[in-house]
Amino acid sequence: MRADEHAETGSGRLLVISGPSGCGKSTICQRLREDPRVEFSISATTRPMRAGEVDGRDYHFIDKARFQRHIEDGDFIEWAEVHGNLYGTLRRPIYAALESGRTYLVEIDVQGGASLKALELPVASVFLFIAPPSMEVLEARLVGRGTDTPEVIARRLEKAHEELLAQDKYDRVIVNRDLDEAVAAVRRFAGLDAPLTE
Ligand code: 5GP
Repeated sequence: MRADEHAETGSGRLLVISGPSGCGKSTICQRLREDPRVEFSISATTRPMRAGEVDGRDYHFIDKARFQRHIEDGDFIEWAEVHGNLYGTLRRPIYAALESGRTYLVEIDVQGGASLKALELPVASVFLFIAPPSMEVLEARLVGRGTDTPEVIARRLEKAHEELLAQDKYDRVIVNRDLDEAVAAVRRFAGLDAPLTE
């Protein structure tokens, strides 16, 4: 039996969060990660590990041959090439989490979010798009991070214009004006607003 069919009986939920670089989605996801009802998807990638990253926490860092085998074995629910490296979302942990009634959080770019949506998986799912209040605010955030050169910032802003066009493919758009409010909105739409019970 394929895991896709098997999961129909699971009581968990797939939570997909996308948005342009600098919109605050990683910070929002970080906050959700603290919730024990949430399991965070760890993608596989062929990109070399960056300083400070941990294998199995940030990504599963694998070589191209292994990635190719995963593709052939149908292990990825979606995969894509981004800036010359391969990235894929593994299928098995999604279904394991959903069957145990947990929320499986996938933080993914707009391209990957659209692929997941198009699959029409037979599982309860919520697709949320995090948007910046304006392009001016987005630019100010990217500059304020101090991690990118002006050229990289210009490229990210150009990409953000494109990515914002995809927001109507998502179930909900959350404008990140205030972090606490945006996290609360995500929790509400994801059904995670009930208090935690011991
Ligand atoms: P980075 O290498 O900077 O961590 O990520 C580069 C890009 O790859 C980001 O836009 C990120 O959203 C995207 N990415 C990370 N994991 C996946 C994945 O599993 N699938 C897809 N389609 N994109 C991913």
